[in-house]
Amino acid sequence: MAGEPQPDCLFCKIVAGEIPATVVRKTERVLAFRDIAPKAPLHVLVIPHVHYPNAAELAAAEPEIAGELLAEAGAVARDEGVEDYRLIFNTGAGAGQTIFHAHVHVLGGKPMTESMV
Ligand code: 5GP
Ligand code: ZN
Repeated sequence: MAGEPQPDCLFCKIVAGEIPATVVRKTERVLAFRDIAPKAPLHVLVIPHVHYPNAAELAAAEPEIAGELLAEAGAVARDEGVEDYRLIFNTGAGAGQTIFHAHVHVLGGKPMTESMV
């Protein structure tokens, strides 16, 4: 069934507590934890408990959870006292996605004025 845990998925294992993570926020549907290889002073990943391969597929199937993901991303930055931050959804290997469980990167705490778009 869509959204079911996948046995070979690292982030499903983090949701299940089988792999440790430094959790900063947790709701019934969303988990936020620090990236193991931070690219900025603030680098947190916000993921749904349910498994979808990317954020757009999550939003198409479960829009309320996708909305909560964004709200939690903002709450992470607020909790850390970071006003200016970047949200990144890598989608597809060619765009740098390495873990195929929907997630948003929350990056901040340093100037990030260079734009890719
Ligand atoms: P992606 O490249 O798929 O957009 O992002 C995956 C992110 O997961 C990377 O930034 C990587 O550093 C992070 N990551 C990979 N393995 C682990 C892990 O075991 N624990 C944590 N906390 N982050 C991880
Ligand atoms: Zn998963």
